[in-house]
Amino acid sequence: MILTCPCGQTSLTLTGPPIIAVDCCCTSCRAAAQRLNAPLGPHGETAFVLYRKDRVTLPPPDRMASFRLTPNATTRRIVTTCCHTPLFLEFRGGHWLSLYAALWRGAAPPPQMRTMVADLPNPAALPHDIPNARTQNTRFMLALLRAWVAMGLRSPKIQTAGEFDV
Ligand SMILES: [Zn+2]
Ligand SMILES: [Zn+2]
Repeated sequence: MILTCPCGQTSLTLTGPPIIAVDCCCTSCRAAAQRLNAPLGPHGETAFVLYRKDRVTLPPPDRMASFRLTPNATTRRIVTTCCHTPLFLEFRGGHWLSLYAALWRGAAPPPQMRTMVADLPNPAALPHDIPNARTQNTRFMLALLRAWVAMGLRSPKIQTAGEFDV
């Protein structure tokens, strides 16, 4: 499966199924969405599809830049250098990528849960169509752990052209 940025110059290739699809409601994702002009759902959620790093073929490093909410943040969001479209969120040392579901343009795998709903101003207003986890619940962490074991406990490194700030 190939995902391409809106301007068409940058794409990445996925192999196999995702680890899990989640809607993240955390404060950082909402702040990043505002600064990166990324779409937010009606409840303030950012839709992600989590993939093992070894199942994603990334574009060349000069096509990607790192965006951090603060200079020393342990997470970064990778945007394209062509049109500054957010591609994914990466935790330092993480073995997975949280790909922005917007890249699927409406055809992303449906979310299996919401995470970090405790960060929302009014979590009680959320519907109960899928589980609402206050933080990152056990099912979420187990899915990530199983993927890491399947990868032989490796965490591939990702290079980008440099930093991006807005
Ligand atoms: Zn988040
Ligand atoms: Zn582009």
